[in-house]
Amino acid sequence: MRFDILTIFPRIFDSYINESIMKRAQDSGIIEIYSHDLRAWTTDKHHSVDDTPYGGNPGMILKVEPIVRALRALPVLHKKKIILFDPAGAQFRQARARKYAKLDQLVLICGRYEGFDERVKEYVDDVISIGPYVLSGGELPALIVVEAVGRLCEGVLGNIESLAEETYSTEGFVEYPQYTRPEIFEGHAVPKVLMSGNHKAITAWQKTKTRKQSPR
Ligand code: SAM
Repeated sequence: MRFDILTIFPRIFDSYINESIMKRAQDSGIIEIYSHDLRAWTTDKHHSVDDTPYGGNPGMILKVEPIVRALRALPVLHKKKIILFDPAGAQFRQARARKYAKLDQLVLICGRYEGFDERVKEYVDDVISIGPYVLSGGELPALIVVEAVGRLCEGVLGNIESLAEETYSTEGFVEYPQYTRPEIFEGHAVPKVLMSGNHKAITAWQKTKTRKQSPR
């Protein structure tokens, strides 16, 4: 799985993607993550990626040309989707992460400032929001999508069973609570059944504790 992130802050990703699961997944060649500086696709001497919006609104928006030039310059793998981040887009959910994990390539476009020229939407497959709040840019949303999708790619997680039983593995369900040592911490005890060694009873307890998420 290949991730191409289009951004005006390509170095923002360095530290996160070079640690832990994301690093191991890249080292083992299961995923590839590239962050591309949109300035590389500007043609003016100031490398302008943004401009003032028509209509006199305050702030700046990302220009359409560098983004489209970048999209046309990237390598194209067989099963590919282009994603644009927008707080007003479709809510990113686990079911969508699962669909994306079956692709070969995701191109992720990070907005900044007041957003982007609306015409960018003509060149993308999906417009995605990671939640009903406004961030300063699409870089954190991109990291969230890379991680949520990347960890579902075959071979990324050592223990594949952890995927089958985790929260949202079935839409709307929340995983049972888990505990580790010590048995009692400041008066809070681990449920006795978990230390009983009775696997049938443990599975039954876990089932009763797996709950349907209450609607919000
Ligand atoms: N003016 C825009 C509006 O009112 O909808 C907000 C722009 S925001 C400050 C800059 C960029 O951050 C957006 O274009 C988008 O790429 C990204 N962004 C911010 N919040 C986001 C969210 N919740 N989900 C996905 N992307 C987000």
